[in-house]
Amino acid sequence: MKVLVINCGSSSLKFQLMDMETESVEAKGLCERIGSEGSRIVYTPVKKPEFGKITIESPMPTHKEAIQIVIDCLTNAEHGVVGSLSEIDAVGHRVVHGGEKYVDSVLIDDSVIAAVQECAEFSPLHNPANIIGINVCRELMPGVPEVAVFDTAFHQTMPRKAFIYGLPMKAYTEYGIRRYGFHGTSHKFIARQTAQFIGRPAEELKIISCHLGNGASICAINGGKSVDTSMGLTPLAGLVMGTRSGDIDPAILEFYGRKEGLDVSQVTEVLNKKSGVFGISGGKSDFRDLEEGFYAGDPGCVDAIEIFCYNVAKTVGAYAAAMNGVDVITFTAGIGENSAFVRGKVCEYFGYLGIKIDEAANKERGEHVISTPDSKVTVCVIPTDEELMIARDTKALAEAQ
Ligand code: ADP
Repeated sequence: MKVLVINCGSSSLKFQLMDMETESVEAKGLCERIGSEGSRIVYTPVKKPEFGKITIESPMPTHKEAIQIVIDCLTNAEHGVVGSLSEIDAVGHRVVHGGEKYVDSVLIDDSVIAAVQECAEFSPLHNPANIIGINVCRELMPGVPEVAVFDTAFHQTMPRKAFIYGLPMKAYTEYGIRRYGFHGTSHKFIARQTAQFIGRPAEELKIISCHLGNGASICAINGGKSVDTSMGLTPLAGLVMGTRSGDIDPAILEFYGRKEGLDVSQVTEVLNKKSGVFGISGGKSDFRDLEEGFYAGDPGCVDAIEIFCYNVAKTVGAYAAAMNGVDVITFTAGIGENSAFVRGKVCEYFGYLGIKIDEAANKERGEHVISTPDSKVTVCVIPTDEELMIARDTKALAEAQ
């Protein structure tokens, strides 16, 4: 079975075609600047490595043209990887917000599209783009099953005490304001992969999954189920991130706005785009640059790294307390997978958990354990693969229909 995975952002579209017999990637790519000047597709036919990366500039006023170009690339006589569109058996869509309705991935029908539309008020940039992607695929590939895989679904197992905010209860009951959590597809993948990697059933394990990328979140996973997570109603909450503030005193919104002459939505924009390690360091959000600055003694970079690592360590501590223990801590995503420096610094806080890190192992790459054999908690690095998780769910639901 071949599954096309589609991830529509507000002005971009990432895609991956997977052969599910071998779980291998046949082609992948990215459409950028949809809806503006200079739109282009960067396409990699993995199955035909002789072509390398192909970049094609082409007007893409909407996601419709973008998906048409993706299909043209995949079916191209030279660099295409399928003979015709009919070889694509199912399409899996990443959908950011599924609200409380979706606790798992689901086959898409009209009622699902309506529900995704309803959740758009929580995710105004992403859900509408996801719906366009779904509708265009329906139009261009009629009859091919489509599956929605929600970022929020994995966290629907959280207990009320973890998802209700300290607000008047009508905020939840009337407006749906609660912690939803994001990166669920990644945390679900990590829960399963971590259990498989260390050779123990997920049902027996308390795992803390640290997804540290540009957007970053931590998830407490008890017996394979999410019981708490750091992002909230929106992905702005929790850790200090690349450009997002994470948790702050809510009174800052008014105070900072008054000082800077900004209204609430302008301050929210600052919290999303100009804060986090970017704001602290004075303009750097990539951890490679921040590390370089740290070693050069740049005070902004030193602050940014210290604050980021402290936040991660503090949240891990909170989740170890919430689960009354932890068996495995997993690092994943851009920073978690690649920065031995950040991992090492975060783990310096974990002596009280009986954690010991093997410094040489920490420097290695790929899926590996970084704690010593006598460490009381296993610490490991597991590369995440959200596209594979989406493709697996899509295959299972398409086969079951
Ligand atoms: P997202 O999907 O949220 O955009 P990623 O998971 O792709 O983010 O992570 C991107 C981030 O990973 C980069 O901004 C950078 O900070 C970090 N990163 C990538 N490679 C390295 C590396 N070799 N060392 C340190 N940090 C890295």
